[in-house]
Amino acid sequence: AKMVYYFGKKKTEGKGHPKALLGGKGLNLAEMTSIGLPVPPGFTITTEVCGDYYKSGKQLPAGLMDEVHEAVKTLEDELGKKFGDNDNPLLVSVRSGAAVSMPGMMNTILNLGLNDAAAEGLAKATKNERFAYDAYRRLINMYGDVVMGLPHHSFEEAFDKIKKKYKVTEDTDVPAEGLRELCDAYKAVYKKDAGEDFPQDPIKQLQLAIEAVFGSWNADRAISYRRIEAAKGNSEIANLIGTAVNVQAMVYGNMGDDSGTGVGFTRDPNTGQNKFYGEFLINAQGEDVVAGIRTPQPVAEMGKWDKAAHKELMEIKKTLETHYKEMQDIEFTIEKGKLFMLQTRTGKRNGIAAVKIACDMVKEGLITEKEAVLRVPASDLTHCLLPSFKPTARNAADVLCRGLNASPGAAVGKLAFTAHEARSRFENGENVILVRRETSPEDVEGMSAAVGILTSTGGATSHAAVVARGWGKCCVAGAGDIHINEKAKKITVTDAEGNNRTFTDKDTISLDGTTGEVMAGEVETQEPKLSGDFAKLMQWADKYRTLKIRTNADSPADSKRARDFGAEGIGLCRTEHMFFEADRIIHMRSMILADTEADRRAALKKLLPFQRKDFEGIFKAMAGCPVTVRLLDPPLHEFLPHEAAAQKQMAEELDVKPAEIKKRSAALHESNPMLGHRGCRLSITYPEILEMQVQAIVEAAISCAKKKIDAQPEIMIPLIGTAAELRILREKVEQTIEKTVAAKKFEGKLNILIGTMIEIPRACLTADDVAEYADFFSFGTNDLTQMTFGYSRDDVGGFLPDYIEHKIVPVDPFQSLDQNGVGQLVEMGVSKGRSTKTKLKIGICGEHGGDPASVAFCNKVGLDYVSCSPFRVPIARLAAAQAAL
Ligand code: PEP
Ligand code: MG
Repeated sequence: AKMVYYFGKKKTEGKGHPKALLGGKGLNLAEMTSIGLPVPPGFTITTEVCGDYYKSGKQLPAGLMDEVHEAVKTLEDELGKKFGDNDNPLLVSVRSGAAVSMPGMMNTILNLGLNDAAAEGLAKATKNERFAYDAYRRLINMYGDVVMGLPHHSFEEAFDKIKKKYKVTEDTDVPAEGLRELCDAYKAVYKKDAGEDFPQDPIKQLQLAIEAVFGSWNADRAISYRRIEAAKGNSEIANLIGTAVNVQAMVYGNMGDDSGTGVGFTRDPNTGQNKFYGEFLINAQGEDVVAGIRTPQPVAEMGKWDKAAHKELMEIKKTLETHYKEMQDIEFTIEKGKLFMLQTRTGKRNGIAAVKIACDMVKEGLITEKEAVLRVPASDLTHCLLPSFKPTARNAADVLCRGLNASPGAAVGKLAFTAHEARSRFENGENVILVRRETSPEDVEGMSAAVGILTSTGGATSHAAVVARGWGKCCVAGAGDIHINEKAKKITVTDAEGNNRTFTDKDTISLDGTTGEVMAGEVETQEPKLSGDFAKLMQWADKYRTLKIRTNADSPADSKRARDFGAEGIGLCRTEHMFFEADRIIHMRSMILADTEADRRAALKKLLPFQRKDFEGIFKAMAGCPVTVRLLDPPLHEFLPHEAAAQKQMAEELDVKPAEIKKRSAALHESNPMLGHRGCRLSITYPEILEMQVQAIVEAAISCAKKKIDAQPEIMIPLIGTAAELRILREKVEQTIEKTVAAKKFEGKLNILIGTMIEIPRACLTADDVAEYADFFSFGTNDLTQMTFGYSRDDVGGFLPDYIEHKIVPVDPFQSLDQNGVGQLVEMGVSKGRSTKTKLKIGICGEHGGDPASVAFCNKVGLDYVSCSPFRVPIARLAAAQAAL
């Protein structure tokens, strides 16, 4: 196979070849050359050669150097220069370039081709002796370092001697004569340390440099980099065969005040504004900009220095964007007033910029609507919806530790240690962050009052995480390095250096729910703007998607917010959240304490009006859209207080003995509550709870109908594992609907669907039987994941980070659906369910409904809708469109 691809005026051989073969840099150099941009000519040695090099025990393949020779000849012809010439020598750079960028991980050699004669030649050609010998001494040093692995200090000692002799302290003050002497000294160092002369044959230099770049592919740091990137989900990087090598004619940005070098983006990567965004340095080489030794100037100022070069750069911006139809990240150099392009690649940007750039490019006719929809990473839309940290402030922040990134966003506040404290301090106008070991339903008041939530235990579907995501509230969960002392109102964190740091209720901390980081002090934030571009992109997404998007919401306010974000109904209304307000929980508790059915019914009767009102509000907010109401799901003990003081207070309120509460609480204790008396099992034992809830739903629907509000309730029975459970409970629901309609003497049509959640593996295995009694299925993938893996969803914080680190699981399966395992059960549930009822409506309402990869899976297996928390509705809309295109 061809091993070397030339790019230049003579020919451009690499154009249109795969990036996997030429590497990112090589392919883009070929493309830029082919569209007529000023690129110093050169050639690319393919990644396959690197692969062969390793396969044959670090031997360059036969014939490679012949092809290299030929390419060098073409290069010499094109430039009218010769390698090693004592008149006007050809000099090249030798750089790595894999198909996936690995910034700074591999070797680079500059000024290659200089020898004693060529240094003379360069001095003559540039009329700059100092420049020529500075370049030569840099080559000997860099070559000695990269190719031969010589110690740097020997070179440094030689340089110090010269500086002493010329009585200067700065490198730049050494005169030309001194640099000549330095080159001799360096050659002596080279000979002593390497045991041979510095090679005067440029082709030999080139061959060894090529081998050195291939060698750096498997340097420790490069291997580590690939491993870390692969672990972060960059699957492309794991499959690379090696690096390409780019050999390119040198150009110099350091030839005087009419030369310079710069880097930039063709659009602003922070805002997306169509304005060149970059910096340049006069009389400098590329490395100087990145190294940050001197402060560069903005490219906007470049016209003042060199008008023509600036104008050309702006034209190149246009040419590049017209060609790539993408925002580019570029490097350029100006040599004595002439502009050269050294690199281009797709520019990284945040979600806000991504949306604006995609919309602008459609307007400019560069891309189509479909391309715009595909171009914005769906999960990056969160940047558009939530407050975030200012990037500069974020970079400078004092990071204490990291937990799970349970719910994105940015939160800054003082520490509050109980829900009650959070609520009262919030009411006094304070921004607080609620910090708990783990939250429970009793904490919701405090959670809603807090700007952010931090827990030291718990996973991505722990109570705190689910509730926070539902509210679009920042949450970091399972930050195990934090030790909470609730009594003393302080937390202790052991930081990366092993120091114990303490924070109290007077201290401010900042939470980054997007990364899971906890930071000391106040980090500056910025508010989201739902610009016209955002709305436009959403419109396009809606045009192309086929999946419906619903939301998980259990209050009129959340329903409304979700509708504003584009939800087309509620896929999961968790009714248990409705029982926690002070005026309701008391009746719930008295129901739980009751010994007889009659007493239970009496307590439930008092809850009925609250439920009816809640449902009416939600139906109204979701008028015209389906609302799936799930019957009570959690085990009853969750509604009882666990602490002695609260138990005492409850006893007073209900006028019973505290001992009785303790006794009932103990009786309800379960070893594995998540596998205990919950879900539909509650309704089997206590059908009166189901009856009250169904009655409230029907009465609310009737009341809406009378007000001409189009309520579309769907009643959902949770945690079904056998068809028999659903058969019995469906009959109960139907009877209650009939009874309520009759009691209300309602004449109109209600058309209430009755369906089930599929969240137990057995329900998937027997979905054909279950479907007999279901109008719809909704996959509860939180419980389904829990029960398929056998991981307690509330306790994964203890081991999941280790599992991810050891690649036992690629990602948190509670965040992104395990398509291989749990996905099989979902597919089986769909096909078995539809084998009984071809048109069975099927959705998903687990946390996965808002995860782009999971949404794509749901689209693939033929679900009708996904349901997710309100703030993830736009993400799901975009992900569904991307899956459909
Ligand atoms: C589920 O299990 O996926 C679900 C949506 O129900 P919950 O999270 O309330 O158990
Ligand atoms: Mg569930």
